[in-house]
Amino acid sequence: MKIKNICCIGAGYVGGPTMAVIAKQCPGIKVTIVDINEARILAWNSNNFDDLPVFEPGLAEIVKETRGRNLFFSTEVDKAIDEAEMIFISVNTPTKTYGKGKGMAADLKYIELCARQIARVAKQDKIVVEKSTLPVRTASAIKSILDNTGNGVQFQILSNPEFLAEGTAVQDLLNPDRVLIGGDTSTKEGNEAVKSLVEVYSNWIPLAQILTTNLWSSELSKLTANAFLAQRVSSINAMSEICEETGADVQEVSKAIGMDSRIGPKFLNASVGFGGSCFQKDILNLVYIAKSYGLNEAADYWEQVILINEHQKNRFSDNIVKTLYNTVSGKNIAFLGWAFKKDTNDTRESPAIKVADNLLNEQALISVYDPKVIEERIYADLDYLNTRSEEENRSLLKVMTNPYQACDNVHAVAVLTEWDEFKDYDWKKIYANMQKPAFVFDGRGVLNKEAMESIGFVYYKIGSGSK
Ligand code: ADP
Repeated sequence: MKIKNICCIGAGYVGGPTMAVIAKQCPGIKVTIVDINEARILAWNSNNFDDLPVFEPGLAEIVKETRGRNLFFSTEVDKAIDEAEMIFISVNTPTKTYGKGKGMAADLKYIELCARQIARVAKQDKIVVEKSTLPVRTASAIKSILDNTGNGVQFQILSNPEFLAEGTAVQDLLNPDRVLIGGDTSTKEGNEAVKSLVEVYSNWIPLAQILTTNLWSSELSKLTANAFLAQRVSSINAMSEICEETGADVQEVSKAIGMDSRIGPKFLNASVGFGGSCFQKDILNLVYIAKSYGLNEAADYWEQVILINEHQKNRFSDNIVKTLYNTVSGKNIAFLGWAFKKDTNDTRESPAIKVADNLLNEQALISVYDPKVIEERIYADLDYLNTRSEEENRSLLKVMTNPYQACDNVHAVAVLTEWDEFKDYDWKKIYANMQKPAFVFDGRGVLNKEAMESIGFVYYKIGSGSK
């Protein structure tokens, strides 16, 4: 089937950028992104391109080019489903916060609602594409709902996991390492559906980079990719602690091992911990799946990746307290960065949240500056933890719009995100306006140790031993 109309349900970090790039690269396809969140759709339709709900380098330009041409944002979900031959599901699949599998399994509530809505509305055959990360064999659940509640039309389910990295989403989508499409390869209709999606991507991606597999391989590949990536971070973070104790430097170790072509240089930066909506959720998911099949050793192995990550965040805040003479009560600490990584405004599972929570428990006063994250988001992240009242969060933690103001008169500065601009600050000026001794805790290893020490800072870099 030649695809002329695509509908994407969910205008978030995955749906927004992915569909914008499809619209850009396939001018002959009309792409409509729908969401039940009216404010989000309004923001996507804003004429102030700085206000788009997702910040990604290069995204605003693509939305400017395509919006109104062949890219549309709307809240009319039924209409878009009805018009499209192919429907992407890009809704959120958070970790369950209740019931069986609480804290581990993916909550498929939103996916199921989508499936039921598609089934109700569809009057012609449709190809339904899972874009959200899903546990293995979700496709069969979607298929069952569609076939049992639909209007007798045919549905083909494809799995097309997204491998983009936030912060470089547009580049990743334009030049992906590979595109993965899983489908029902045992039937003619299934193979045809796979072919239709291959055709969409082949508008800009060489066929050799478009892999097709069966559904379950595709679903499991996504979880596996994220588990491996997170595992690399936890592995180097576990080494960072050993480096600090032994006097080694984790950046030197990373470089040394990364030059081994079997290991490779990427994803070896020690940090205060990984974040983002996917790594933790996908590993928990994998652990849950393994346990449900009785594969306890495999489950324990992957769970350890999460445990190290938690340890790394706690270790960072513990070190701040310990270094500041075992008390931060009433002391001011500046946070540079709140996003889970640079070049994104996404804060989901950001290590900054846990570190802030730990320090607030110790009665510290925190001032936060992040180049892209808005105040409302920061408070929402803290309130979500339910550790203290909303009023307390607002009185103990302030959000600043200027980094120098955030660092003014503080006892310590903690770097929580690796934003490039932090390197170029006038650190002498920051030093002059801080309490002495002036401490800097660099949770991302982005500042220069010698330069910071020569200004007079007491400087801690994650993974750098001083012995
Ligand atoms: P992701 O990072 O996976 O893109 P987000 O939370 O950023 O996740 O985006 C998911 C979007 O899906 C949200 O904007 C949410 O409002 C939307 N959504 C969830 N359920 C539905 C639904 N049934 N119909 C339309 N949109 C939905």
